[in-house]
Amino acid sequence: MKKAYIKAYKFRIYPTKKQEIFLAKQLGCCRYVYNYCLDLHNRVYKEEHRCLSKKEMNAQLPVLKKQEATKWLGEVIAQPLQMAVQDLDTAFKRFFNKTSAFPRFKSRNDRQCFKIPQNAKLSNGLLKIPKLDSLIKVNLSREITGKILYVHISKTTTGKYYASFTCAGEYAVFEKTGKQVGIDMGIKEAATLSDGTQYDNKKALKSIEKKLAYTQRQLSKKQKGGKSRQRLRRRVARLHESIKNIRHDHNDKMTTEIVKNHDLLAVEDLAVTNMLKNHKLAKSLQDVSMGAILTRLKYKSEWHNRDYIEVGRFFASSKRCSSCGFKKEDLLLKDRSWTCPTCLTNHDRDINAAINILNEGIKIQSGCGA
Ligand SMILES: [Zn+2]
Repeated sequence: MKKAYIKAYKFRIYPTKKQEIFLAKQLGCCRYVYNYCLDLHNRVYKEEHRCLSKKEMNAQLPVLKKQEATKWLGEVIAQPLQMAVQDLDTAFKRFFNKTSAFPRFKSRNDRQCFKIPQNAKLSNGLLKIPKLDSLIKVNLSREITGKILYVHISKTTTGKYYASFTCAGEYAVFEKTGKQVGIDMGIKEAATLSDGTQYDNKKALKSIEKKLAYTQRQLSKKQKGGKSRQRLRRRVARLHESIKNIRHDHNDKMTTEIVKNHDLLAVEDLAVTNMLKNHKLAKSLQDVSMGAILTRLKYKSEWHNRDYIEVGRFFASSKRCSSCGFKKEDLLLKDRSWTCPTCLTNHDRDINAAINILNEGIKIQSGCGA
């Protein structure tokens, strides 16, 4: 089975001085058309007591391009000018639906943006837009999938440029597996599954974290304003960036694998923010970016028609024997394994917890949950 998606990807772009002049001109022309049509609309409304239609507004464009005073409108991409008219029309519709205030004139000091509905191409991190011969450099921080529907180019009030690509595509929904899983989000392990699988990215992070600690120590010894201090600061930033990437990749792969292999996922509904107040747990909890993992599991479950069940957070999943139900009240956080005094089953702490979470999840799904 296939499902359709629409997704937007936003990246910083780095236009050259020459390209910046072109973009500024395009933004200026869009703003001019928007303001011109808004003014015309207001005049027509005052004199004829009627609204200007989108068709009438669009009809202004060829007229303006022919006039000596505004013929520079012909030097920029035409489609964004039509999109500016479209934006104004939408703004009026919102006003009449009472969802927005009356449209106001745009100023060059606002965040500015124009939209190219077709004919924008992206390849090898370079963006090609109509009427501009050279290619604009894009900081492609992640891969784009699907077909590009349109591109928004924006300029912030601080002068940075961004391109946002809206893409449409299809993805294949994972096949049913007939398997169910409980997931224990741990402190020691990133995640333990009820079938005994354990996910951990500690090893991958260990050496890089050592490097980071070392570089930070070096940095603290350097004098302010020096060149080597600057170099070290850049190195620290790069190391933080790599750690972020390693985590992101690990979490992405792990969550995809878990969702792919199971029809039902039971997780503990952890109030992560509450647990973060406990300082001893804080660092390791952040380490596994628990919240980020759960969010991913949840939306990927939705994408692939999986059952995602949250088990109440006061449910004592570690202390209860998954075989006989005995509750070991004196189990400590440092006890990684234990033997049930009643049924003599030997438990790995995390796997036992994951099995309990699964059992509770199945109960909830069948409507018998606590
Ligand atoms: Zn037992």
